Amino acid sequence: MLTVPQHLYDALRAHGEETYPHECCGIMLGKANSENLTVHQLLRAGNTRTDSAHNRYQIAPQELIAAQREGRRQGLDIVGFYHSHPDHPAQWSPTDFAEAHWFGCAYVITAVEKGRATLTNSFLLTGTGEDDKAFTLQPIEIV
Ligand SMILES: [Zn+2]
Repeated sequence: MLTVPQHLYDALRAHGEETYPHECCGIMLGKANSENLTVHQLLRAGNTRTDSAHNRYQIAPQELIAAQREGRRQGLDIVGFYHSHPDHPAQWSPTDFAEAHWFGCAYVITAVEKGRATLTNSFLLTGTGEDDKAFTLQPIEIV
């Protein structure tokens, strides 16, 4: 289960509308209790990949480090990442899967069709390493 306050859920979807037709991406800080993740804060990240910003995303290592530092300051952890899929379904791509390494974290994808956010899905990265990792669709609870 991924628990997201309404205003943050709206904000991450709006981010994808703002950057359309390019992808947006960001980091989610919050609290993790086994597979129950609660989002407390969003950190927008610049899309560092300029070659094809419409179908790939990447968060710069410096941004990840800054996010961890910010989280530690507030007693929060990185609980996941979000990005948008302009004119593509809210399903993970082979690139998304290959670049996912944060086990126990949520990977949230919002489909943005013609500039409007439609479906938002969350996938929990399960497993212990590259050999057994998997994305599992998880329910999103908006509070
Ligand atoms: Zn993607």
